[in-house]
Amino acid sequence: MKISFKKTFSLGGIHPPENKITATKSIISAQLPDMVYISVNQHIGTPAKIVVKKGDSVKVGTLLGQADGFVSANIHSPVSGLIEKIEDTPSASGYYQQTIHIKVQEDIWEDYIIKDSDLNRDIESHTKEDIVARVKESGIVGLGGAAFPTHVKLFVPEGKSPKALLINAAECEPYLTADHSLLLEKADEILVGIALLMKALAVQKAFIGIESNKKDAIKLITPLCSKYSGIEVVPLKVKYPQGGEKQLIRAISGKEVPSGKLPLDIGYVVSNVSTAFAIYEALQKNKPLIERVVTVTGKRLEAPSNMKVRIGTRFSYLLEQVGGLPSSACKVIAGGPMMGRAVASVDAVVSKGTSGILILDEKETKRAKEQNCIRCASCVSVCPMGLEPYLLKYHGQHSMHENAQQNYILDCIECGSCSYSCPANIPLLDYIKVEKNSVIQINRSKNLK
Ligand code: SF4
Ligand code: SF4
Repeated sequence: MKISFKKTFSLGGIHPPENKITATKSIISAQLPDMVYISVNQHIGTPAKIVVKKGDSVKVGTLLGQADGFVSANIHSPVSGLIEKIEDTPSASGYYQQTIHIKVQEDIWEDYIIKDSDLNRDIESHTKEDIVARVKESGIVGLGGAAFPTHVKLFVPEGKSPKALLINAAECEPYLTADHSLLLEKADEILVGIALLMKALAVQKAFIGIESNKKDAIKLITPLCSKYSGIEVVPLKVKYPQGGEKQLIRAISGKEVPSGKLPLDIGYVVSNVSTAFAIYEALQKNKPLIERVVTVTGKRLEAPSNMKVRIGTRFSYLLEQVGGLPSSACKVIAGGPMMGRAVASVDAVVSKGTSGILILDEKETKRAKEQNCIRCASCVSVCPMGLEPYLLKYHGQHSMHENAQQNYILDCIECGSCSYSCPANIPLLDYIKVEKNSVIQINRSKNLK
């Protein structure tokens, strides 16, 4: 099978070392922990409203938190056991969030969940409304990292009509291979999930964007697509950040999403490949989002792995299962090295949006001394959003908020390509994030008046 890898996005982009050291590792199931810690705020939007109390017994799949409003998501218990307490607890981001602490007992599942592993290809019996309702009930959010409630994406406002679904299987972040491993092991289930998503959106076409460093997945899925109507694999050149929504749309369709607009405004809906798998499980197995695949990785780890992990498991417990935290560990990142965030402690827990846990040593994390800008424009040439990062940094440093906004700071997708490429070692994204936050706060306060 000869594959052509010509497509990619046109503006900017970089090629950091891939370091996909778990690319050939099959998914292993992590052991059940003794305790899980379930935050009610694992998604973008309003935190879920807790519907259980201290002392309650729960099973796998028991509803713990009800979505509070349209942009919110249900939270289900990933374990069976006893609720020990409910209190504010630091999350992976370091912020305190209302969290349900569950002492794990036997692994008993709610009767409504179908546990068999048989593939169920039945798509016809589900209506569009049924799919959206079940996705909402199951607490599914975007598993690529954004954790945006999926039922909201499936709600198409009047006057808009999507023409195609784009599936993000680029997994362009270095080190991460959770999506890749799922593609290899659950290809059929993912395709059923995609067909269900297409039905919910009433689109006839879906394109799965996969980068050339996953040729095995492309070779496996391409022939399987013929069993489904309108699903096509689009091989892509490797380039970071191809998994960004706007970059993926450009790479696959050649179309640009204008500044301030959403993919739906030009007729596309983008969903992650792991989300498609979660949709398969929700519709065909009645299974809510209680576990996910996480890449636990790092060059110094004894046994880096792709692990199927119950939500709410502590990073420390997973690290024990891959040989322990190496003594050389300097930083623990939730996510990948480009867009992930360092956590304050290995007590951080896996949430719905955690795609990876990355351990870096001192050499990998050391920042070189920041120097003066030499006006080389490297940051401009790599920015996939066509921004001028050096200028946005200047605006931020001088509190020039209006200028920052006029220069499209809100379009920054925080990919870090600018910082990565700067020969003067200027942490451009750090400056830009601070300024972007100020602009968002100013806009919010204006809207409140
Ligand atoms: S972090 Fe923002 S400014 Fe920097 S390259 Fe990415 S999109 Fe451009
Ligand atoms: S890459 Fe760095 S040195 Fe070059 S223009 Fe941008 S900020 Fe200045």
